[in-house]
Amino acid sequence: APGRRPLMAGNWKMNLNHLEAIALTQKLAFSLNERQLSEVETVVLPPFTDIRSVQTLVAGDKLLLGYGAQDLSPYDSGAHTGDISGAMLAKLGCSYVLVGHSERREQHGEDDAVVNAKLKAAIKHEIAPLLCVGEGLAVREDGEHVAHCTAQLVAALKGVKAEQAASLVLAYEPVWAIGTGKTATPEDAQEVIGALRAKLAELYSVELAEQTRILYGGSVKSKNIAGIMAQSDIDGALVGGASLDVEEFVLICRYR
Ligand code: PEP
Repeated sequence: APGRRPLMAGNWKMNLNHLEAIALTQKLAFSLNERQLSEVETVVLPPFTDIRSVQTLVAGDKLLLGYGAQDLSPYDSGAHTGDISGAMLAKLGCSYVLVGHSERREQHGEDDAVVNAKLKAAIKHEIAPLLCVGEGLAVREDGEHVAHCTAQLVAALKGVKAEQAASLVLAYEPVWAIGTGKTATPEDAQEVIGALRAKLAELYSVELAEQTRILYGGSVKSKNIAGIMAQSDIDGALVGGASLDVEEFVLICRYR
């Protein structure tokens, strides 16, 4: 859409060994030329343990592949064994951090309050939150998907002021489409994403809503990306499985 630079983010989840992570990053940086990277912002979200390597690989490269993390602690420091803070991620040069991914919500019991606290922690450390919302199959079958996703958005943004929301990126990820090979139709994705944009306008302003990028995620592949990107409110994709395959991910980034 006009004025919004497309964003393709690869969520590696808990995959790849250290050498594979390095190889994937190098191949990706090699495959995308300067024009492609300037037109379509391309970001990888490795496991925490590979972020330092990715940072080293892209440092000083003017092509600048972006990178970020898959999660962060709501706290800045302290007795939180095993957790990673926004301050730590900021020191590693992370530009983005996923917040509220459905796998975190489901497997770690992250509720709206936790998602809200994590979102605020990301903003505090000047890392753009990539906030994920999405409904499960039962909610969609009940026709409550728009209400569910807009409610998740409102809850995640509770107490967040307009100036703090400027770096926000949203991702609509229907849970039934993640890792299942079932993609939402472009029209179904547009319906929810359009409603999320309208909700942002209501919460903040039309300007903020118009400048915020909203991605689709859920079994995105090179063969379905063009139809998704043709929708007026969809500004990119959050890609899981297909981001582990360099050729596929490059084709997704070159969708146009
Ligand atoms: C995701 O994890 O955010 C995702 C969309 O996964 P996949 O592309 O594998 O469905």
